[in-house]
Amino acid sequence: MFTATVKTSSQFQIVDITKIVEDAVSKSGVTEGICLVSLPHATAGLIVGEYEPNLERDYLRFFSEFVPKSDYEHNSIDDNAEAHLKSAFFGSSKAFPVSGGKVLLGTWQSIMLCEFDGPRSRAIQVIVK
Ligand code: ZN
Repeated sequence: MFTATVKTSSQFQIVDITKIVEDAVSKSGVTEGICLVSLPHATAGLIVGEYEPNLERDYLRFFSEFVPKSDYEHNSIDDNAEAHLKSAFFGSSKAFPVSGGKVLLGTWQSIMLCEFDGPRSRAIQVIVK
Protein backbone atom coordinates (compact mmCIF):
# COMPACT_ATOMS: atom_id res chain seq x y z
CA MET A 1 0.00 0.00 0.00
CA PHE A 2 1.10 3.52 -0.79
CA THR A 3 0.47 6.25 1.80
CA ALA A 4 0.87 10.00 1.40
CA THR A 5 0.16 12.80 3.85
CA VAL A 6 -1.40 16.16 3.05
CA LYS A 7 -1.53 19.00 5.55
CA THR A 8 -4.60 21.16 5.11
CA SER A 9 -4.39 24.84 6.04
CA SER A 10 -7.96 25.89 6.78
CA GLN A 11 -11.19 24.58 8.25
CA PHE A 12 -12.77 23.95 4.85
CA GLN A 13 -10.59 23.18 1.87
CA ILE A 14 -10.41 21.20 -1.37
CA VAL A 15 -7.06 19.58 -2.21
CA ASP A 16 -6.41 18.10 -5.65
CA ILE A 17 -4.74 14.73 -4.93
CA THR A 18 -4.83 13.41 -8.52
CA LYS A 19 -1.03 13.59 -8.88
CA ILE A 20 -0.55 11.62 -5.63
CA VAL A 21 -2.84 8.86 -6.91
CA GLU A 22 -1.20 8.86 -10.36
CA ASP A 23 2.25 8.56 -8.75
CA ALA A 24 1.07 5.64 -6.59
CA VAL A 25 -0.28 3.83 -9.64
CA SER A 26 2.95 4.47 -11.51
CA LYS A 27 5.10 3.17 -8.60
CA SER A 28 2.91 0.07 -8.20
CA GLY A 29 3.93 -1.31 -11.58
CA VAL A 30 0.37 -2.49 -12.14
CA THR A 31 -0.69 -2.01 -15.76
CA GLU A 32 -4.22 -3.45 -15.72
CA GLY A 33 -6.29 -3.45 -12.57
CA ILE A 34 -8.00 -1.31 -10.00
CA CYS A 35 -6.88 1.53 -7.78
CA LEU A 36 -8.55 2.08 -4.42
CA VAL A 37 -8.11 5.47 -2.75
CA SER A 38 -9.09 5.69 0.91
CA LEU A 39 -8.91 8.33 3.63
CA PRO A 40 -8.78 6.92 7.20
CA HIS A 41 -10.66 9.93 8.55
CA ALA A 42 -14.18 10.69 9.83
CA THR A 43 -14.20 14.39 9.00
CA ALA A 44 -12.83 14.42 5.44
CA GLY A 45 -14.22 13.22 2.13
CA LEU A 46 -13.33 12.29 -1.43
CA ILE A 47 -15.03 13.68 -4.50
CA VAL A 48 -14.31 13.40 -8.22
CA GLY A 49 -14.94 16.31 -10.55
CA GLU A 50 -13.39 19.32 -12.19
CA TYR A 51 -10.83 21.13 -10.06
CA GLU A 52 -10.81 24.85 -10.72
CA PRO A 53 -10.57 27.77 -8.23
CA ASN A 54 -14.10 29.11 -8.80
CA LEU A 55 -15.53 25.60 -8.62
CA GLU A 56 -13.51 24.94 -5.47
CA ARG A 57 -15.40 27.81 -3.83
CA ASP A 58 -18.66 26.46 -5.29
CA TYR A 59 -18.01 23.00 -3.79
CA LEU A 60 -17.31 24.56 -0.39
CA ARG A 61 -20.43 26.72 -0.60
CA PHE A 62 -22.51 23.70 -1.60
CA PHE A 63 -21.15 21.62 1.30
CA SER A 64 -22.00 24.32 3.86
CA GLU A 65 -25.47 24.83 2.36
CA PHE A 66 -26.02 21.06 2.21
CA VAL A 67 -25.09 20.60 5.89
CA PRO A 68 -25.54 24.00 7.57
CA LYS A 69 -24.29 24.71 11.08
CA SER A 70 -26.93 23.44 13.48
CA ASP A 71 -27.48 22.29 17.03
CA TYR A 72 -26.53 18.66 16.28
CA GLU A 73 -26.14 16.55 19.41
CA HIS A 74 -22.48 15.66 18.70
CA ASN A 75 -21.64 19.38 18.89
CA SER A 76 -22.19 19.24 22.67
CA ILE A 77 -19.05 17.07 23.00
CA ASP A 78 -16.91 17.80 19.92
CA ASP A 79 -18.40 20.72 17.95
CA ASN A 80 -17.81 19.12 14.55
CA ALA A 81 -21.00 17.19 13.79
CA GLU A 82 -21.33 18.96 10.43
CA ALA A 83 -17.89 17.65 9.38
CA HIS A 84 -18.85 14.08 10.35
CA LEU A 85 -22.13 14.28 8.45
CA LYS A 86 -20.43 15.58 5.30
CA SER A 87 -17.76 12.87 5.54
CA ALA A 88 -20.36 10.13 6.01
CA PHE A 89 -22.46 11.39 3.11
CA PHE A 90 -19.75 12.09 0.54
CA GLY A 91 -17.65 9.09 1.55
CA SER A 92 -13.97 8.50 2.22
CA SER A 93 -13.00 6.00 -0.49
CA LYS A 94 -13.29 5.59 -4.24
CA ALA A 95 -12.04 3.06 -6.80
CA PHE A 96 -10.77 3.76 -10.29
CA PRO A 97 -9.82 1.59 -13.26
CA VAL A 98 -6.15 1.27 -14.13
CA SER A 99 -5.16 0.54 -17.71
CA GLY A 100 -1.92 0.97 -19.61
CA GLY A 101 -0.26 1.69 -16.25
CA LYS A 102 -2.40 4.79 -15.72
CA VAL A 103 -5.46 5.62 -13.64
CA LEU A 104 -8.33 6.21 -16.06
CA LEU A 105 -9.93 9.59 -15.47
CA GLY A 106 -11.89 11.80 -17.82
CA THR A 107 -10.29 14.97 -19.18
CA TRP A 108 -12.01 17.16 -16.58
CA GLN A 109 -11.94 14.68 -13.72
CA SER A 110 -9.70 15.24 -10.72
CA ILE A 111 -9.63 13.36 -7.43
CA MET A 112 -10.15 15.79 -4.56
CA LEU A 113 -9.74 15.49 -0.83
CA CYS A 114 -12.36 17.58 0.96
CA GLU A 115 -11.32 18.98 4.32
CA PHE A 116 -14.37 19.48 6.50
CA ASP A 117 -12.65 20.09 9.86
CA GLY A 118 -9.15 21.45 9.34
CA PRO A 119 -6.50 22.35 9.50
CA ARG A 120 -5.32 18.78 9.98
CA SER A 121 -2.83 16.26 8.67
CA ARG A 122 -4.61 13.85 6.32
CA ALA A 123 -3.44 10.42 5.20
CA ILE A 124 -4.21 9.19 1.69
CA GLN A 125 -4.04 5.43 1.27
CA VAL A 126 -3.79 3.96 -2.22
CA ILE A 127 -3.89 0.26 -3.06
CA VAL A 128 -3.33 -0.83 -6.67
CA LYS A 129 -3.96 -4.45 -7.70
ZN1 ZN B 1 -16.39 14.70 16.35
